Order: sequence, then C-alpha cells, then structure tokens
Amino acid sequence: MSTLALPDMNQLSESGVDFVDEPYFENLLKRKTDPGRIREIIAKAKNKEALEVEETAALLNADEPELIEQIFDTARQLKKDVYGNRIVLFAPIYVGNYCVNDCRYCGFRRSNRDSVRRTLTTRELRGQIENLLKNGHKRLIAVFGEHRNYSPEYIADCVNEIYSVHVGNNSIRRVNINAAPLSHEGYRIVKEAGIGTYQVFQETYHHTTYARMHPKGTRKSNFMWRLDSPARAIESGCDDVGLGALFGLAGWKFEALSLVAHAIHLMQHYRVGPHTISFPRIRPASGVTIKEVAEHDVKDDEFLRLIAILRLSVPYTGLIVTAREPAVIRKTALGFGVSQIDAGTRIEIGGYTEADAQTQALEKEQFELGDIRPLDEVIRQLLNDGYIPSFCTACYRLGRTGEVFMEYAIPGFIQNMCTPNALTTLQEYLTDFASPETKAAGEKILKQEFDKIPEGKRKFEILDRIERIRNTDERDLYF
Ligand code: SF4
Repeated sequence: MSTLALPDMNQLSESGVDFVDEPYFENLLKRKTDPGRIREIIAKAKNKEALEVEETAALLNADEPELIEQIFDTARQLKKDVYGNRIVLFAPIYVGNYCVNDCRYCGFRRSNRDSVRRTLTTRELRGQIENLLKNGHKRLIAVFGEHRNYSPEYIADCVNEIYSVHVGNNSIRRVNINAAPLSHEGYRIVKEAGIGTYQVFQETYHHTTYARMHPKGTRKSNFMWRLDSPARAIESGCDDVGLGALFGLAGWKFEALSLVAHAIHLMQHYRVGPHTISFPRIRPASGVTIKEVAEHDVKDDEFLRLIAILRLSVPYTGLIVTAREPAVIRKTALGFGVSQIDAGTRIEIGGYTEADAQTQALEKEQFELGDIRPLDEVIRQLLNDGYIPSFCTACYRLGRTGEVFMEYAIPGFIQNMCTPNALTTLQEYLTDFASPETKAAGEKILKQEFDKIPEGKRKFEILDRIERIRNTDERDLYF
C-alpha cells in the first residue's frame, strides 16, 4: 500500500485566507468601550448569539469589576443553557514523539537531545488502550509529532487499531486526532478511518512571534499552511475541527481575538464553527527555558476571564481545559463555560502502563502536567461539584457533526440528547468501574438529575436504559 509521504516543504501551499489582521486587532484592543455598550454585548451573548470580533475585543477590554462579574455570570448561565451541567471526559494517547520541527516551547523539539524518542508498537498501543478501557475511558485523542513515520495512512491505521481493541463489551467509541496539518488527500484518508475531531493548534496567531518560535526551514515555520489547515480539513469532510493557541507566547487578548476571528472565518466560509477550542498555557518542558518563550505570562484571573469571554463569544463551540492546568484551576474553570476535560491523563509514551502514579518523567513528555489524578478521583470531584461526567459519543456516530450539529445546538435541541446520554454513560461508569465512594456520589447525582426530567415518554426511555445497564450486560445505549 503506497504511503502518502509528507508533502515536500516547498509544496506546502501558502493558500488560504490570512484573516489575522494584526494592526486592526491591536487597534481594537486599545479601544475603550462605553460600559453601556458592553452591557448590550453581554445581553446579546446571553441570548446565545455568537459575537463579532469587535464585540469580543470590547469584552476583553472591560476592566470594571462590575462588568467583569457580569461576564462571569453570563458565562455560567450560557454553560447551563447550552450544555446543561454535563462535562465530557476524554484521555490523550501519545503514540509517537519523533518530530522534524524545532518549536522553541516543546519538549519534543528535534534539537532536544534529552527527549526520549519512541513510537508505540502495535502491541504497545493495544496495551495502552486496554488499560484506558479497564479504567472506564470511551473517548480518546491520539497525538503524533510531525514526522514521515506518521503519515496519514499510519494515523488511519492507528485509529483502526484503537477502535479494534475490546475489553469485555467495552471499546473506544470516538478517536480524535492532534497531529500535523495535512493535505486534502491526507484529511480524506484519516476521515475514512472514522476519526472524530481533527485538532491543529495555531500555537500563536501573532506573525512575528510565530516566526520566532518556529525556526525557518522547519515545516512548522509555514504560518499559512497551518492557519489554512482547519479549512482544508472541512473541505475534505473532517467537519469537526479543533482550534487552539498556546497561551504565553503572545498577548492573551490578541490570541483570544484571533481564535474568535478563526471561528468566524470558518462559520462564514463553511457554515460551521470549530467543534472545540483549546487554550493551553505554557508549561515547563524538557530542554525548554520557559522565560525565553513565555514572554506573555497569563495570570490565573486573566485565564479565567479568557474562558468566560470565549464562552460568550462562541456559544456553540466546546471549550477544553486540559490536565496541563492544576486541579484547582480546572475546578474553577468548569463553572465558566468549559465543556470538556481530560482525566486520568498520562502523556509519557507508554505512560498508561509504565508511568509512576505520583511522578512525571519530563524527558518522556511534551510538557509537564498540572493534574495527574486518576480518572475515578476526577469523576468523584465532578459529581461532588454537581456535574454529570459524560462519555457521550452519540452525535459523531449519528452524523450530528459540523453543520448538522449546529442545527441542533443553536435552537437548543441538543440538550435533549446531551443530558440523557450523559446519564446513561455515567451509569455505565458507576456499574463497571467506579470505586464505592464514587458510586455513592454518582447515584446521588443520577437521582437529582432524573427528578428534574419532566414525566413522559423520554423519562421512561431514560429510566429503561439506566435499568438495563444496571441489571444486564447491555451497554452503549444512546439517543
Ligand atoms: S510542538 Fe509539535 S511540531 Fe513542534 S516540536 Fe513539538 S511535537 Fe514537534
């Protein structure tokens, strides 16, 4: 089978629209907006209307405590209105860390001699997946460096391998990908393998910072090849795309504005916004001098404002806070609009079977994690905080993706599926994997949530499924 080699550096097109109008964005971020106008923008967001770049800039510039509190309150309300109180869970699986790039903030950069280079064998990959399944995971994101070894076919083969692993009647139900930008042909190949979201982070939308962080002559130095990649993915049928920026490289307000501009660009050209947005903050990494790259440190209060403002700006896009962040920050961020988190995360290659439960091996990681609590502990915290931990994968498997997902999300229908599916996947976890303390906390939430559901056919259907999961081997019952 011919392997689709990585496109030659000179073939990496500069096509696509460079919507990052830096002078305009920087001018917007200098502009002071009248508090009355800011309240109008907050009211528009409360109405679940997506915001324009100018409106997001006004919120980013709002520094009156009373207005900032209104932004936080609206983010809390929007989270409830659009996503209910479910939090979707996933785990990353790092497959290989060979990389041809030399990104100055990354432990896997090619010039870092301390990095332990490795690619999981098929047998090792299956072993990682079996471990993740035995702990209760159902949704994964597979992560690859950029290297000829990780061709679109290779990524597709890994996806098929992951889906083929079964532990009892459990298997992974959705595999997302975080890897290098691909060509149209490359995206078609991974789409055919049944991936969920294809995540490519721009890292920074600031042109000169981007050039400084991604040395000339490396594949990743091509700003436009990367910026245009979510568009290429959508054009190739991967209609769930994930955007992101690495916060700390350039100003947080500039990156936030650019992420919103990217979402608007996709919505205008493809009638579908990003499925998810991630906003990782720079973390310590092997061979990286943080103060040389983290020129724009993002403080915790700014980070929480960033999340709330993104919640108001892109109401139908999932917001992801990963285990990069310490548990206390993640706990707070959940209230302001975060809809997805990873849990029980290990990012050393082979980490799910080899890593020490209490310590991290930085030379085997891309960056240092802030939260390495086991899945059961994270789930118990979510339950005790009143959230419904969810392993739902229904939309993607029923074709409610991209534009179709938007048609369900915008009028709010999606909640009629999200909450019931969260309850049935939670029941699966409680029945098959939970510790006694987590099970007790889960039963309490199940009862609370069930009592909220209006009497009728739907309530009966949900109860029927929960009973079948509790009392039989039936699993994977979704709406
Ligand atoms: S950030 Fe990604 S592309 Fe850059 S060096 Fe690290 S693994 Fe390679």
